[in-house]
Amino acid sequence: TRIKGNYKYEIGDLASTLNYMAQEIVRSNQIKDDFISSISHELRTPLTSIKGWSETLVSGGYDPEETRLGMGIISKESDRLIGLVEEILDFSKLQQNEMKLSIGIVNLKVLLQETILNVWAKAEKKRIHLLLECDEGVYVKGDANRLKQVFMNLVDNAVKFSHEDSSIALTAQRYSASEVAILVRDSGIGISEAHLTRVRDRFFQVDALNGGTGLGLAISQQLVELHNGRMEMDSELGKGTQVTVILPLTEQPLDLESAAGADK
Ligand code: ADP
Repeated sequence: TRIKGNYKYEIGDLASTLNYMAQEIVRSNQIKDDFISSISHELRTPLTSIKGWSETLVSGGYDPEETRLGMGIISKESDRLIGLVEEILDFSKLQQNEMKLSIGIVNLKVLLQETILNVWAKAEKKRIHLLLECDEGVYVKGDANRLKQVFMNLVDNAVKFSHEDSSIALTAQRYSASEVAILVRDSGIGISEAHLTRVRDRFFQVDALNGGTGLGLAISQQLVELHNGRMEMDSELGKGTQVTVILPLTEQPLDLESAAGADK
């Protein structure tokens, strides 16, 4: 009977494990379905605009000013498509453990300055002031382009979810003897406590109408972890959000020239 008892227990255990697995599969299928429908929409919007404008221009009869406007929109929407596809490819590479980093010594101040330059125009449109605070001579070991991608994503989110005429601060400060913390702080719409635990999940968006894939934070977090760092988020609904990236510091390179540009 003892054997029978154990056997019964194991069947019960197995049944609940299978049940749990089935629920997980249903849940992850639901997440994937939601993602496919939201990404299809994200891809269709720029494609519709590109198709509309190219057909209009092909039909001819437009003055140079109108033609330039149409071409400008086609170019901008193509960039948006490329960005979306790159984000999906990066995510899939990270999922399959196939993201290759090109490691060098990165001058943090240069990297953050370049980040700010890249999002400057977008911030300007909302009259958002971007502030940078970072000491000279702070170096981290990593892939400059991938780290820039992380900070661009964070500042881009901060701009997207900030009100007009506000400020965003990008601050680097020593966190411990061997680590630096880079803070991206906005005073935008904020995230509720319930959503804050989920925003770093792949595909998750508080409001799907804001556009985007819901992959940015998941990608950023994984890239930071590949650099032996970590990412923390604090937020208050209606007050603003702060994302902290903590990275290990490295020694100043002997050959200063090699670390002058973040792309090297
Ligand atoms: P997306 O490409 O949709 O922006 P992310 O993974 O970068 O994807 O962000 C996921 C969601 O987290 C966003 O859709 C938004 O709801 C929320 N979020 C991210 N950053 C901020 C922020 N700075 N302020 C408010 N909400 C944010």
